[in-house]
Amino acid sequence: MTQATMSRVEAFLTEVDRYSAHNYHPLPVVLEGGEGSWVWDVDGNRYLDMLSAYSALNQGHRHPSIIGAALSQMQKLTLTSRAFHNDQMGPFLSALCEVTGFEKALPMNTGAEAVETAIKMVRKWGYKIKGVPEDRAEIIVCENNFHGRTTTIVGFSSEDQYKDGFGPFTPGFVEIPYGNSEALEAAINQNTVGFLVEPLQGEGGVVVPPPGFLSTARELCTANRVAFMADEIQTGLGRTGRMFCCDWESVRPDVQIVGKALGGGVYPVSATIADAEFMDVFDPGDHGSTFGGNPLGAAVGLASLNVIVDEKLPERSDQLGSWFMDQLREFESPHIKEVRGKGLMIGVVIKESSGVARPFCEALHARGILAKETHHQVIRFAPPLTINKEDLRFALSQAKEVLSA
Ligand SMILES: *Cc1c(COP(=O)(O)O)cnc(C)c1O
Repeated sequence: MTQATMSRVEAFLTEVDRYSAHNYHPLPVVLEGGEGSWVWDVDGNRYLDMLSAYSALNQGHRHPSIIGAALSQMQKLTLTSRAFHNDQMGPFLSALCEVTGFEKALPMNTGAEAVETAIKMVRKWGYKIKGVPEDRAEIIVCENNFHGRTTTIVGFSSEDQYKDGFGPFTPGFVEIPYGNSEALEAAINQNTVGFLVEPLQGEGGVVVPPPGFLSTARELCTANRVAFMADEIQTGLGRTGRMFCCDWESVRPDVQIVGKALGGGVYPVSATIADAEFMDVFDPGDHGSTFGGNPLGAAVGLASLNVIVDEKLPERSDQLGSWFMDQLREFESPHIKEVRGKGLMIGVVIKESSGVARPFCEALHARGILAKETHHQVIRFAPPLTINKEDLRFALSQAKEVLSA
């Protein structure tokens, strides 16, 4: 690095430090370009993206057909609001329902908005259809969850930092330990309207629930008329080696929540998906979003879905992920406590005696691999699902270097 470019990076970091809220702690890399699984910084250094924007880039950076769809839609019409119809929303929602196997979908923008939509929908279903007394609805959530950052959602987080200073919080949420079906059964009562769960916890540290948990939870929800709400914002759309992570246990939720990769890394697109029994509780004026379902987002969403289906990304994720995980498990490292995950959603847990995960991520950065720690002890490897084996081999060799003595 020359003195001139050094100072360019430093000038950028200083500017951001000066003008931005300090609500993140990013690696000190300043990116200016990307294509497929690779990104490059302002000095032209190339890095393999092993985070893919927390799984919002399953299709890779700037996938040509998603960029093509976005550009051509931008030349025609970008925003109507839901006060008028547009010709893109119908085809997008119909494809989304086809892929997910549900009757209806409600388009939003960010993941947190889709979770909020699901909460409102299930509460109203509880009052109008199930017959729960007014303002008594309860939704069961799991310890160590991550469902977004709105005040209602952080109110039922078990992470102190997510809540500290942000109360008072929305009542009506009951917490159980993740993966514990007895606790779920015990928590259900006549006012329970929903069970909100990540089929594999991403931000919580790539935590895989015990086998049978999802299917048992499904049975309990069915038996007690409780809506099974699957937050597949991170796990869905191929990430875990199936189209949806619930598919691993052949579980069909009542409400499915998708986001992140639905926008193909180009534009925020999320959706809450359910059958008419749930969706029809919404009447005009009950709920909305200025940007939700806009023609640009709908065109991008449709193209993003098509890439996942046409390029068989769930199968790729399954094959490449199993290979990568096997290689990591066979590798003897003094620092690795456990390797866990499904498909290309992989967590490498660092032993407490080896410190935290952050320095390993910094060492990977120096070797051309961008990965990010989650929950202090876990390095998450979640590359674009379009990644090729050669690039994954490169990531593996660098990871082995960093994780050996
Ligand atoms: C990222 C994420 C969200 C929140 O999505 P945003 O687009 O950041 O609002 C919710 N649930 C899960 C499981 C996520 O991974």
